[in-house]
Amino acid sequence: MTFDLSPRPLNPAPKTPKMIWPNGARSALFIGFDVDAETAWIGNNPSNVDRMVTTSHGGYDARVGIAKILELMDELGLKATFFTPGWTALAHPVQCEAMVAAGHEIGHHGFLHKLPDRTKCDEAFEEIDRGFEALQSALGVRPVGYRAPSGENFPELLAYLKKSGIRYSSSFRDDILPYRHAGADGSTGPVEIPVNFAFDDWNFGMKSRMSPGTLFGREAVLPLWIDEFEATHAWGGVTTMVLHPQVSGRPMRWHILRDFLKHVLNKGNVWIATGAQITSHFEALEAASGQ
Ligand SMILES: [Zn+2]
Repeated sequence: MTFDLSPRPLNPAPKTPKMIWPNGARSALFIGFDVDAETAWIGNNPSNVDRMVTTSHGGYDARVGIAKILELMDELGLKATFFTPGWTALAHPVQCEAMVAAGHEIGHHGFLHKLPDRTKCDEAFEEIDRGFEALQSALGVRPVGYRAPSGENFPELLAYLKKSGIRYSSSFRDDILPYRHAGADGSTGPVEIPVNFAFDDWNFGMKSRMSPGTLFGREAVLPLWIDEFEATHAWGGVTTMVLHPQVSGRPMRWHILRDFLKHVLNKGNVWIATGAQITSHFEALEAASGQ
């Protein structure tokens, strides 16, 4: 495979339209959880399947994390989007059914959490098909949102997602407002609800013997999240969180997340919405503007 390194915008999506949030809100908060469970450890490293302690980081999702996150959402009266790999739904159906029963949105997050690789299009498309099949058979759900496992994407995959009925993606890091993807040929893709990497809890709270590093506690994470949220709010953007039950479902981190969400709730003029709700709002604005 040769690579086209000619200078051009590598994301051909048009400029973000002006955004008016519902109910007079100044900004939006999108609470997204990635329910990777063990797939975070075996999807890109299959030999880890025989390392029970390594995969037990992900096993925390099913034993503790998902239930504690659902408890928190219930306490605060919030609805979130749970991006769930098909493998997770098949391996832990009871825990995943609880997410559906509580009224949360289920999003697509691949099947085995394989990093989308443009040199392996067939594998990437198979991950999409198998993810849909697993979520349908385990949970009776056909998701409309997609977050790329390991946060990668490429043009053919965006087109495949759109063709498969995916209305929005939430992986890119190039804006603070939702926008509509476009192909280089002018074709339209799904809506993007961009993420803010500062709200990926994995950065602060997940290390292992294979990936040693510094863990960051409340004094680092909570002020960073509040400052970033406040500035995004002032700019009228969407604060998109990339959370993992195996990280933010841990005791100390659960309290950091709880305090952050209470800060946002106390703000009052923030529209806290699922990815599907944000996408429907974006689509309505598009329709109203005649696009
Ligand atoms: Zn993930």
